[in-house]
Amino acid sequence: MSVLITESCINCDACIDECPATAIVSSDEAPIDSEYTYIKPENCIECVDASIPKCVDVCPTEGCIVWDMPYTAEFDSYYLQGMEDGKYGIREHKKKGLLTPANQPRPFREEVSINDRVKHLAVS
Ligand code: SF4
Ligand code: SF4
Repeated sequence: MSVLITESCINCDACIDECPATAIVSSDEAPIDSEYTYIKPENCIECVDASIPKCVDVCPTEGCIVWDMPYTAEFDSYYLQGMEDGKYGIREHKKKGLLTPANQPRPFREEVSINDRVKHLAVS
């Protein structure tokens, strides 16, 4: 990841079509049992080329989308544990296997501190 959608999501799905990385799916299509619209961490690129993440720009619910850990090898065990906990449903690619951070690292915003990510601070 990435960024994470939290329980204040109203499932409007406005963010889905805005994502440049096709990382967002409605709760019905989430790979986990999710009450809310879901972000696939293995796809999210944190909109590194934009001034603000596109999903946040369009979201009507302030504070709904928060920072998560970078999707990089260093955080492989974090995401694997999240899978075990039912928080993430990381995709298995036919040839590449499970698209974990070590297997498929994604771009992330270096200016966001690890501390802010650990706290899941709102993206703004
Ligand atoms: S931060 Fe960008 S890439 Fe990530 S889910 Fe939001 S819109 Fe998609
Ligand atoms: S735009 Fe915000 S409230 Fe709407 S589905 Fe996406 S995260 Fe949820």
